[in-house]
Amino acid sequence: MLLIVDILSGQSIITGQFTRPFGESSVAAQGETILTGLLDVDDTLRRILAGIIPLPAEDVPLAEALDRVLAEDVVAELALPPFANSSMDGFAVRAADVAGASQENPVQLTVSMDISAGAAPEGHLHPGEAARIMTGAPLPPGADAVVPVEATDVRWDAGHEDQPPARVGILRAVNPGDYVRPVGEDIQVGQLVIRAGDILRPQEIGVLASLGRVTVPVIRRPRVAILSSGDELVEIDEPLTPGKIRNSNSYVLAGLVTINGGVPIRIPTARDTLDDVRRCFREALAHHPDMIVSSAGVSVGAHDVVRTVLDELGEVKLWRLNLRPGKPLAYGRLQGIPFFGLPGNPVSAQVTFDVVVRRALLKMGGRPDIVPMAEAVLAEDIPADGRLTYFRVKLERGPDGQLIAHTTGTQSSGAMLSMVLADGLLIVPAGRREARTGERFPVRLLREL
Ligand code: AMP
Ligand code: MG
Repeated sequence: MLLIVDILSGQSIITGQFTRPFGESSVAAQGETILTGLLDVDDTLRRILAGIIPLPAEDVPLAEALDRVLAEDVVAELALPPFANSSMDGFAVRAADVAGASQENPVQLTVSMDISAGAAPEGHLHPGEAARIMTGAPLPPGADAVVPVEATDVRWDAGHEDQPPARVGILRAVNPGDYVRPVGEDIQVGQLVIRAGDILRPQEIGVLASLGRVTVPVIRRPRVAILSSGDELVEIDEPLTPGKIRNSNSYVLAGLVTINGGVPIRIPTARDTLDDVRRCFREALAHHPDMIVSSAGVSVGAHDVVRTVLDELGEVKLWRLNLRPGKPLAYGRLQGIPFFGLPGNPVSAQVTFDVVVRRALLKMGGRPDIVPMAEAVLAEDIPADGRLTYFRVKLERGPDGQLIAHTTGTQSSGAMLSMVLADGLLIVPAGRREARTGERFPVRLLREL
């Protein structure tokens, strides 16, 4: 379970593992939608997500487990530290022996042992004895406290002295347990230390290493085949001849897949012919992906042969979402594999991915859906068309600390630089014809402020 704060209402809402902090069409009252025949984004998402199943676990070497999603609870089968040890360089003592020790009246003890880190003390510490001990070294049986070297009349440079002194004068009393890290101080046997579903950060990796986990069960990363089609597209290393543009969507989508925990598989661009589109989809399926994402060819253009191929390979519905930029979205299954057909326009593809595909990918990969959100005041009037709209905005801090949003200029769904310039996507709910200067809206942040 995750606790998130609804940035619209400011209220805490507890939701399931997959949260949707957007609040989107919940903002628009029923019947407010102006364009007819468009599907509500939240409803569509709910339907899609209901059919997405988290992937099974796989074991990976610990060194490769960073940023993966833990598939099983980790319960400590050993205590950390596994043995009582010294937290200082100094002398292990019996606290009772040095109860009266002070600067003026040092207690003299016989140094009977020398315990370095990594050593296993063999003898027992008897009354009147001290053991020279290094940080992290095990406390010998019989000792119950450590006196730091600074509180003795002995000096050594970081333990580099070969031989311990025969005697040590203790200048300060200590209590039992002082400067001792007891068994299990950090982690106890049987303790639940990391939960299934947690993302493994360096600190979790450290705990797993300490527990001796050589491999870790993690949710398999979704493998996502990425297709693009269009006679106008050339690969990035090909010359731009008249009428051509480079296939950028493949790269953007691969990046979006990666940052959302998936593994992208880019399929070379398809021409707008039945044979070539068919060949590309077959190639995608041959990779046995967990998801297939294509861009372009889902609108009703003259050369959209994608539809035909989709019908051959599975069952795909073409939806018109109440979303801008976006709108056309194909969703279904190709030989059982979830398929998303995104619009070709670069910004539409990115926004539709963010709003829809990302959620499915996160659910499949077992990742919590948390996006950085803020709230901003509009610095200009912007026209809306009734669809749920994501405006690309730059944000600045006003004198009172609140965020002020300016659009990045053109909101053309082909303007890729507008996504580069944008600090976030300002979300105007469905049903609005205009967003006015001074109004507050949620912003899906695209970079840290
Ligand atoms: P379509 O969905 O095929 O009608 O394409 C809509 C627009 O997106 C057109 O201007 C295409 O040139 C452009 N487009 C389609 N696919 C890509 C792509 N892979 N990379 C960049 N632009 C694309
Ligand atoms: Mg096209």
